[in-house]
Amino acid sequence: MTGDPETHWIPPNHPRRESLLIRERLVDGFREGYVAAQGLIAHGRGECFDYLIGEESIPPALTAERVAVAALLTAERPVISVNGNTAALVPRQIVELARLVNAKLEVNLFYRTREREELIARVLRENGAEEVLGVGDDASCVIPELFSERRRVSCRGIYIADVVLVPLEDGDRTEALRRMGKTVIAIDLNPLSRTSRAANITIVDNVIRAVPNMVRFAEELRDRPRDELIGIVKGFNNEENLRAVLTFIRDRLTELAGKGITLEFPKHGSDG
Ligand code: ATP
Ligand code: MG
Repeated sequence: MTGDPETHWIPPNHPRRESLLIRERLVDGFREGYVAAQGLIAHGRGECFDYLIGEESIPPALTAERVAVAALLTAERPVISVNGNTAALVPRQIVELARLVNAKLEVNLFYRTREREELIARVLRENGAEEVLGVGDDASCVIPELFSERRRVSCRGIYIADVVLVPLEDGDRTEALRRMGKTVIAIDLNPLSRTSRAANITIVDNVIRAVPNMVRFAEELRDRPRDELIGIVKGFNNEENLRAVLTFIRDRLTELAGKGITLEFPKHGSDG
């Protein structure tokens, strides 16, 4: 939110430049006080799974992203839950998505402090959000059976939502939201996490790619007839889609294992 991250030390031709720039955004958010230290660790785990899928939006992810947008567009009270990592990685795009699908934005943190809540709300407002729920006294409703700070939600937002988008969620809360009868859309690079397995619609993709993809799908789908959108949601089976993700990873690893993956270097003494 204030100035650019210090990225001058990353060489322009570094083979992992993109990935390093993304990390830098999180470190920047951490220094500004709104990304939790634990969020940095969670990102590392996400990166691991991103390597396995090839760091691109794989077909089952694109399917889930489109279905998720249809679910948000047909919801009565859709809410997008935002944490520190999401605010650091896709602040402008998450606000744009909320606008296109007419969803409320709500801050919801596992490691909740008043300061972090307010900083995240500020990041969202600086990126065009008009209203941000879940800050301070607004988070006065409680999700039953949940013991982390994530149980505190806005009575006008997640508490009464029918569809909730939870990028980078904790498994516990996903399950609790399901028990409350809500439709949960998760974005999680780990297809094996509790979150992925508990959600109604699981998007196995990096939020960096998933949210911009969803913005494009929202632009495409927002003027479609309601019946068509409901059909898109009804035709989706999350169990099957998650199996397609695992199959994709398995086949990709099998292919890599078959052809070998070491990088080529000149032989010692042969290069001059
Ligand atoms: P769960 O609680 O769902 O069983 P977990 O405890 O392993 O999972 P958490 O720390 O609760 O994980 O949640 C973080 C999740 O977010 C991880 O599964 C991680 O793979 C995922 N993740 C981290 N960064 C990204 C990202 N940029 N895009 C998508 N997913 C990400
Ligand atoms: Mg967890």
